Amino acid sequence: MPTTAIVVFTRDLRVHDNPVLAAAAAADHVLPVFVHDETLATTGFATGPRTRFLDECLADLDAGLRERGAALLRCEGDLVTEVARLAHEVDATAVHIAADASAYAVRRQRRLAEALAGRCELAVHDAVHTVLAAGTITPQGNDHFAVFTPYHRRWAGAARREIASAPRRLRLPPAVSAPEAPVGAGGESGMPGGETEARRRAHRWLGEDVDHYHRRHDDLAAEHGTSRLSPYLHFGCLSALELAAEAGARHTEGADAFVRQLAWRDFHFQVLAARPRAAHDDYRSRADDWRDDPQALQAWKEGRTGIPIVDAGMRQLAAEGWMHNRARLITGSFLAKTLYLDWRAGAAHFQQHLLDGDIANNQMNWQWVAGTGTDTRPNRVLNPLRQAERYDPTGDYVRTWVPELADLDDPRDLHQPWRLGSAKLRGLGYPAPIVDLDTARDRFQRHRQVDRTAS
Ligand SMILES: Cc1cc2nc3c(=O)[nH]c(=O)nc-3n(C[C@H](O)[C@H](O)[C@H](O)COP(=O)(O)OP(=O)(O)OC[C@H]3O[C@@H](n4cnc5c(N)ncnc54)[C@H](O)[C@@H]3O)c2cc1C
Repeated sequence: MPTTAIVVFTRDLRVHDNPVLAAAAAADHVLPVFVHDETLATTGFATGPRTRFLDECLADLDAGLRERGAALLRCEGDLVTEVARLAHEVDATAVHIAADASAYAVRRQRRLAEALAGRCELAVHDAVHTVLAAGTITPQGNDHFAVFTPYHRRWAGAARREIASAPRRLRLPPAVSAPEAPVGAGGESGMPGGETEARRRAHRWLGEDVDHYHRRHDDLAAEHGTSRLSPYLHFGCLSALELAAEAGARHTEGADAFVRQLAWRDFHFQVLAARPRAAHDDYRSRADDWRDDPQALQAWKEGRTGIPIVDAGMRQLAAEGWMHNRARLITGSFLAKTLYLDWRAGAAHFQQHLLDGDIANNQMNWQWVAGTGTDTRPNRVLNPLRQAERYDPTGDYVRTWVPELADLDDPRDLHQPWRLGSAKLRGLGYPAPIVDLDTARDRFQRHRQVDRTAS
C-alpha cells in the first residue's frame, strides 16, 4: 500500500531545513496544505501589510513545491476540520505539523490529535520555529529559564538537531490535481515576503554586514546595522537553526553577537511555552495600577507625543511594519513607564502593525520593557533624550521619520525642539511634549515604590 502524508504548513513557510516537510517527503505521496485559519483572520492578526506578506510567502512556497513536483493546497476555515477532512479524502497515513508555543497553537494541536485519533498518525515536529525546542534545556528545579544569561550559556553549548535537506522530488496523491498557481500579489513593498527573498537577504547579511553587528546594531539610523530578517523568521521563510549555524561559523565578534539575539528569540519562546498565560498576564506582578489615558495612548500610537525619538519610532512602525529594536525599547519604555499605561495596550498596537508580530517575542519583550517580565532591573526608566543623544547622535533617524523637523541642523534641536520656543514649534507644526519627563519618572517610581536614593 502506498503511503500518503499531509504536511500542514503553519508559520514554517519554507522548503529548506523544514523538518515537517522533510519527514512527510518520505511518504510515497505528499499533500502540502495551508489553512487560512478563520479565528486568526478575525482576531486582529491579519492586517493589510501582514496579509500581503503572508500571501507572498505562500506564493513563493507554492513555487518551491511546484519545482519539486507538488503544489500548495490552500483552504479556509478551521485548521482541524479542514485537515481531518483532507486526511479522510486522500486516505492519509500520516499528518505532519510543527509544534508551537502559544496557548492557541497548543489547543489546536490537541484538537488535531483527537480528530485524527484512530484514523492516521499525527507527527508533531519540534525545533522548527526555533534553534532549540522549548524545554530542551532547563535549569535545576524549574521547567524553563527565567533569566537570559544562564540560558544563553547552556543554549550555546547544547546539541542541535541536524539541518534537514530540501526534498528533491514530491508526488501529490493521484486523486489530487495541482491547484492553479496563485496570482502574484503584485505591488511594491520594502519587504517582499517569501523564502526566496529571505535567503537572498540572509546571504547578503551574512556576506559582510553581520561582522559589524556588535558595533552598529544600536545605531538607529544605520541602514545595514541589523539584519531586518525578523519578519522572515516569524513566518519561517528562514530557518533560525540554519541562520545560527551559518552566522556561528564566521567566528567574528559581530556574528557571535547576532547569534546571541537568536538565543533571545528562543529564550522568549521557551518562557511562553512553559507559561502560556504570560501572553496576557504579568509574568511577575508588580501590583501595577496602570493609568487610563486614552488621549496619551492615541498620541503615542500616532507618533505625536512631542518627543521626537519616540514619534520617529512609532512612525517607522506605521510606515514600514517594522521598527528598530532600540526604538522598540524607547517607545515601549515611554508607554509603560513614562506614561505609565498598561503594557498590553502597547503590545496590542505593535502586534497589529508589526510584520514580525509574534506572540512570544512581542509579549515577552513588552513585559521585559514594562518590568513585569524577565528584566533583572525592572524599575529602570529609559530617558528618551539620553537615548536619542546616544543612539541617534546625528539626528538622522528623527530626520527620516519626523519630516516636520527635517530642516533642523543641530541634533539637539531635533531631539528637543521645544528648546526653540513654543512659537517656532507651532510654526513647524510639531506638538509640544505631552508629558514632563522628570515628573513622569517620579510618578512611575512612586507607583513601583522605588527608593530612588537606593537605585
Ligand atoms: C517592545 C518590543 C517588542 C518586540 N516585538 C517583537 C516581535 O513581535 N517579533 C520579533 O521577532 N521581535 C520582537 N522584538 C525584538 C526585536 O526588537 C526584533 O526582533 C528586532 O528588532 C528585529 O529586527 P532585526 O531582524 O533587524 O533584528 P537583528 O538585530 O538583526 O536580530 C536578529 C534576529 O534575532 C531576533 N531578536 C533580536 N532581538 C530580539 C529580542 N530582543 N527578542 C527576541 N528576539 C530577538 C529576531 O528574530 C531578529 O530578527 C521586540 C522588542 C521589543 C523591545
